[in-house]
Amino acid sequence: MEHKLYIYNTLSRKKELFVSIHENKVGMYVCGPTVYGDAHLGHARPAITFDVVFRYLLHLGYKVRYVRNITDVGHLENDADSGEDKIAKKARLDELEPMEVVQYYTNRYHKAMEALNVLPPSIEPHASGHIMEQIDFVQKILDAGFAYESQGSVYFDVEKYNQSNHYGKLSGRNIEDMLESTRDLEGQSEKRRSVDFALWKKASPEHIMRWKSPWSEGFPGWHLECSAMGTKYLGEQFDIHGGGMDLMFPHHECEIAQNKAGLGKDSVKYWMHNNMITIGGQKMGKSLGNFITLEEFFSGNHALLTHPFSPMTVRFFILQAHYRSTVDFSSAALEASEKGLSRLMEGYARLQKLVPSSKSTIDISDLRAKCEKAMCDDFNTPIVISHLFNALPLIATIYLEFQMISEEDLNELISVFKLYLVDLLGLRTENETSNGLEAYKKAIDLLLNLRLEAKRNKDWTTSDKIRNKLTALGFEIKDTKDGFEWKI
Ligand code: ZN
Repeated sequence: MEHKLYIYNTLSRKKELFVSIHENKVGMYVCGPTVYGDAHLGHARPAITFDVVFRYLLHLGYKVRYVRNITDVGHLENDADSGEDKIAKKARLDELEPMEVVQYYTNRYHKAMEALNVLPPSIEPHASGHIMEQIDFVQKILDAGFAYESQGSVYFDVEKYNQSNHYGKLSGRNIEDMLESTRDLEGQSEKRRSVDFALWKKASPEHIMRWKSPWSEGFPGWHLECSAMGTKYLGEQFDIHGGGMDLMFPHHECEIAQNKAGLGKDSVKYWMHNNMITIGGQKMGKSLGNFITLEEFFSGNHALLTHPFSPMTVRFFILQAHYRSTVDFSSAALEASEKGLSRLMEGYARLQKLVPSSKSTIDISDLRAKCEKAMCDDFNTPIVISHLFNALPLIATIYLEFQMISEEDLNELISVFKLYLVDLLGLRTENETSNGLEAYKKAIDLLLNLRLEAKRNKDWTTSDKIRNKLTALGFEIKDTKDGFEWKI
């Protein structure tokens, strides 16, 4: 691969030249949502960050297998080893089957991702669909001597692991400090040490989501799913593992330990973490009660919002900051993004209407290289955006006929905008999204109603003409007793 892409590796704490393990193939794993509630701005950031990484790697010519999981079992309240399963709790409160909760919120998550123009991953495995793989993984860690069974549960022996490895190397912690700060009372826990974490938990009698295992009827620990599904789909060693910074500890730290203990090697070459979104400087999250769901953004139905914000405005707002910086949300900041995005989109639309001249009086030759340099510098989207912004006055002067542009330069400018704005940053004009789709559906209905009217008037020529033309375009039209149905 001929490029110099640098990725900041959270593990080494520096930018490293990206060299994939398997030449033109890239394996990328990103921790997906725990599906017990609506997606909010905090979910949008990792999804959009790694969507851009996915798009850019594809653009560079890699064959990317992108795995983003759905967590639907084992994630307990407070991210801890005890407490109720988040899915099971929601199911109990809503009087639903846990899998009804999972399906409902997974559907809604997909809808929100589609609105944000986040490409679907190559594989989206569910934790509950990989219980066997997780049981096998626990067994591997037990066989290697890095875990112990206690009253039907299995715990990872952090202290033993730390004798030959560094538990805490990703998040920059050390076990002595952890033991110091979380000393538990002798004999009050199934765990030997407070730092140990669950690989398998024996289910209490009231626990609904449970599976048979060699140790007890129970369920896997939250951290285990990513070790099991990552290695299943990407192999024992793969290129990129991503997620939000809030997952670094304990989730990713535990994943590193599980893989090293169970497989005898480090699985991940580049660890990538997006920073958090804050509201008024405060962390946003369900537990803090200050989060705004994506649907509330799109509808404007929230006290902190002045009006509805389109999915593309939300996407642009997130991409205006580098993924490793914090982003502080406010309605005013979002309004600024809204204006900025519409300026860019207008510029792009205007660009496509320009009439070329015989020669150029402007120089656009370095725009592509500048954008590429920014993307290759750890996916620096705000710099890409600033380069595109800088081209806007140029477009305006050509439009107003103060300057001229040759056909070749015009095609290059259009191509750079299309590549960076549309294909890589994934921004699209809003009427191509939900509004456009609605209008399109209405237009087809309108045509078919005209056909119905023609039929009533026994105007078979018109009615057949509409039907045949639509069929030729790939529409399937069915007459029903109250009118019609259609699909593509
Ligand atoms: Zn994970």
